[in-house]
Amino acid sequence: MYLSKLFIPLLKENPSEAKIKSHQLMLRSGMIKQSSTGIYSWLPLGFKIMKKIEQIVREEQNKIGAQELLMPTIQSADIWKESGRYKDYGEEMLRIKDRQGKEMLYGPTNEELITEIFRASVKSYKSLPQLLYHIQWKFRDELRPRFGVMRCKEFFMKDAYSFDISDEEANKSYNKMFYAYLKTFKRLELVAIPMSAETGPIGGDLSHEFVILAETGESKIFADKRIFEIELKESNNNESIKELRKIYDQFYAVTDDKFKKDEFDKKVKKENQLITKGIEVGHIFYFGDKYSKPLKCSVDLQDGKKTNVKMGSYGIGVSRLVGAIIEAKFNNNVMKWPESISPYDVAIIPSIKKNDKLNFTKAEKIYNFLRNNNIDALLDDTEEHLSAKFKKTSSRLR
Ligand code: ATP
Ligand code: MG
Repeated sequence: MYLSKLFIPLLKENPSEAKIKSHQLMLRSGMIKQSSTGIYSWLPLGFKIMKKIEQIVREEQNKIGAQELLMPTIQSADIWKESGRYKDYGEEMLRIKDRQGKEMLYGPTNEELITEIFRASVKSYKSLPQLLYHIQWKFRDELRPRFGVMRCKEFFMKDAYSFDISDEEANKSYNKMFYAYLKTFKRLELVAIPMSAETGPIGGDLSHEFVILAETGESKIFADKRIFEIELKESNNNESIKELRKIYDQFYAVTDDKFKKDEFDKKVKKENQLITKGIEVGHIFYFGDKYSKPLKCSVDLQDGKKTNVKMGSYGIGVSRLVGAIIEAKFNNNVMKWPESISPYDVAIIPSIKKNDKLNFTKAEKIYNFLRNNNIDALLDDTEEHLSAKFKKTSSRLR
């Protein structure tokens, strides 16, 4: 791409509504534009980065055998009435009526819809286990949208769902996801710690939030520092993944809703105690038959009996990650992108003098060579002074 052609509406000043660095930098570098409160358009630069994150998330889901599908953003209220959550979800749910007066909603999550899809086609234990996921926009009418894409109303989420015949089998699916999450965040060069968490409106009794440390995070965390030193070993079977989870479970790490001071003091020596803030970038839940029971989603077992399928759900905030990565890595007002998601691989910044096209011609040669070799290059073809170019183009690259 030639820099002069790039659609990148820069802002000179910090917009007053942007209170934290990631929000300011995303607006100023033309990555996003607010469309209304808590709703953003993703402009080319921001979109490109988000798509790269999405692709890493997808690859790690596929590696553990999860299959991608795509459910709609608009759902019928009927299935939510069946599960009992239509009332419970409250004002965070955006409710809509179509022209026939049928009650619809913009999906805040997809447990009901995936259960409906599953129950319509799967009847036998032989088809289990199953792991299904999609990467789709969600809408939650947050009371206080803030921090740009980190807490907004419309956001892009990967949500996966597991289906198993027993708690024991379901635990294997849960652990696989646990592992896939650790791998995903590692590829994004983030240290995301799994913390025991409350399950909230999703329900159930086993849950981990994946949290990255950041001063501007909204989650208060209490942890044994040593959890940050665990090395992520390649694990390719249920046993080794189970072992890995055991290693994490040894160390105390909780968010504030699960925090108990006496327990913390008892389990963690003073010098290992870490109390700080973080950003939740993923959340996994196991909730057994919480949805399959009311939605009557069962399979036939070998002995002819029926059982409600045991389910879990697993979310990653793909759009939140864009802001979270900036928060975790920025330095001196400059965004630092991990190589795996940087918008361009290489920037070429020739010194262009008026009436002398030699440097530019050389730069174009390099540019074409890189492009022909599938290396995504940005060529600064503007006539600005070289130092100004370095500042602008290199900050875009990182
Ligand atoms: P939070 O506690 O931050 O409100 P949540 O627990 O309600 O999030 P989940 O239902 O666990 O969210 O959703 C899965 C993931 O989706 C979260 O871990 C987060 O990364 C992302 N997410 C949730 N709500 C938002 C939002 N309003 N804006 C952007 N991303 C979000
Ligand atoms: Mg959560």
